[in-house]
Amino acid sequence: MTNPPTSLMTTAFKPAASMVYGKGSYVWDENNRKYLDLIQGWAVNVLGHCPDEIINAVDSQVRKLITPSPAFHNEPQKALAERLCKLSGLDQTHLANSGAEANEAAVKLARKWGKLHKSGAYEIITTHNAFHGRTLCMMAASGKAGWDTLYPPQPPGFCKVNYGDIHELESAITDNTVAIMLEPVQGEAGVIVPPSGYLKAVRDLATKHHLLLILDEIQTGMGRTGHYFAYQAEDIRPDILTLGKGLGGGVPISAVVAAEHACVFQPGDQGGTYNGNPLMCAVANAIVAAVCTPEFMRQVNQATLKLDEQLSALHTQHRLAEIRGKGLLQAIEFDQPVAEKIRDIAMHNGLLINAPRPTTLRLMPALNITESEIEQAVYLLENAITAACT
Ligand SMILES: *Cc1c(COP(=O)(O)O)cnc(C)c1O
Repeated sequence: MTNPPTSLMTTAFKPAASMVYGKGSYVWDENNRKYLDLIQGWAVNVLGHCPDEIINAVDSQVRKLITPSPAFHNEPQKALAERLCKLSGLDQTHLANSGAEANEAAVKLARKWGKLHKSGAYEIITTHNAFHGRTLCMMAASGKAGWDTLYPPQPPGFCKVNYGDIHELESAITDNTVAIMLEPVQGEAGVIVPPSGYLKAVRDLATKHHLLLILDEIQTGMGRTGHYFAYQAEDIRPDILTLGKGLGGGVPISAVVAAEHACVFQPGDQGGTYNGNPLMCAVANAIVAAVCTPEFMRQVNQATLKLDEQLSALHTQHRLAEIRGKGLLQAIEFDQPVAEKIRDIAMHNGLLINAPRPTTLRLMPALNITESEIEQAVYLLENAITAACT
């Protein structure tokens, strides 16, 4: 094992290993140790590590045009915007580089809309334990414990309610409220699935009170839950949708997609040097083309069934507290704080798995994970649970 690099600022505890090479569901470190990867770039690599789709898209675009500057249109950007509008049922797209940046743009749209159409209302209701990114404003929008006091002062304009409680949400609405912003499933909180009917009720509430509904699908979008976007399972549509993570399949790109009435940016209102650069857009086009098809969704749902079946067997044998999730975003809850120990043992045995909470493990495999890889992963996971819990 090598020592952690002393020239890097320490922002998180990390194992000493450095990752060097990846293919599909596997990744190798500098000592050539192979891992079956259920973290996949943090729910990012929807087609696994280094898929041909990305290699080919980068290879052909990098020879044509990398960045003409944000002052000009480019072909991959136009194609991607069209694709996302068509798939989402929304009207216009703005492209950015990270999830947090897309959420910032969504908040700017909402505040501008409030200025134009709601007498200057600017407050956005978000939820406790939500995760919307790490810019100062998105830390204020997020409901992560401790974040409210980490970098004072906190930007104002956000108010928090409990996730899943529609009555509390309605009581929090004031004349100052302009939007409700939430995740269809809270990812970083540990894969918290709201009560059934909640998203639909939130949609109705937003409509009734003339508010915008912003859905942060940075983690749940791009096929992760078995639909192109999670809201499509609920038969609703947000006014503003944010995408990231899986959209680039491993490269940094994000998007804000909005319904016509919420598309209130005017020239000069928003921008960024790399926004909509052709290289990242070419990759996202290749990812969207591969992932957002009925056949691919069928495969995701097939893999989900296999994972569910394997995890239920684990559930009965090891008396786990709970298994929950949607599609290929699943969590295992323990009644003891053993998740980090299991994660470490699993890594030692060649399985990468995330522990977002001391009692929670999260599985976010590539969406094209095979049934035998699922069996292998659950086998390694079971060994780690047994080792950690005895
Ligand atoms: C990861 C994530 C973000 C932040 O995305 P970054 O690319 O890290 O800025 C925002 N919202 C949700 C739901 C996420 O999972």
